[in-house]
Amino acid sequence: MARRRIIAGNWKMNMTPSQAVELCATLKDLVKNDDVDVVYCVPAIDIVPVAEAIKGTNVKLGAENFYIEDKGAFTGEISAPMLKDAGVEYIIIGHSERRDIFGENDILINAKVKKAFAAGLKPILCCGESLALRKAGTYKEWIARQIKWDLTDVTADQVKELVIAYEPIWAIGTGETATADQAQEVCKMIRDVIAEMYDAPTAEAVRIQYGGSMNAGNAAELLSKDDIDGGLIGGAALKPDFGKIVNA
Ligand code: PGA
Repeated sequence: MARRRIIAGNWKMNMTPSQAVELCATLKDLVKNDDVDVVYCVPAIDIVPVAEAIKGTNVKLGAENFYIEDKGAFTGEISAPMLKDAGVEYIIIGHSERRDIFGENDILINAKVKKAFAAGLKPILCCGESLALRKAGTYKEWIARQIKWDLTDVTADQVKELVIAYEPIWAIGTGETATADQAQEVCKMIRDVIAEMYDAPTAEAVRIQYGGSMNAGNAAELLSKDDIDGGLIGGAALKPDFGKIVNA
């Protein structure tokens, strides 16, 4: 079964609303490709203007964060139903920046995955190891454990809709990319973990991205690997180069 490729931009804390609209206009023709899911995961304040700016294009809307309650006294937070109502389809969960800077642990991440599905959003679940774990050689065990925690009580039907992003922390924003073989090794291992937790059809269906300094120069090689179904792109998602990655 052929999995549909998914190239997602993670804009992080970049782009004011007016810059966001400008970027959508710049990228509009460059990201045209009906064979690929193209997603912009944008800061909360950009969601409404970007939803408007991508109307009538092939681009789908994603968000970067939400809180696990639906509504109420949670000053400063936004909920999954709010995102859904604003036209958001994909939601990044478990990014290493949220794990490391904001202290999100696997229990919270698992709750977010379940809440996202309940609200009708598709999670892009991030996992990945630090440089220390890579050097220690224990990165595969670490990532397998993340996946098992984060998908506790998530059903096979849900996992078939899930996107998993393998993002080695040492490659994020550093300019240092995992080699295509290193990325393939872990993406394959993640698919094996899904097969072990669920079954072969579920493992075949789940889409697995690589993320970490993916750019116009290295995307084609990474995307040529059997178990790499797309990319989660930070820095290069803010430039015209993003179009080259979509079409790599
Ligand atoms: P990068 O970020 O492409 O800038 O390395 C990727 C990510 O953090 O999702």
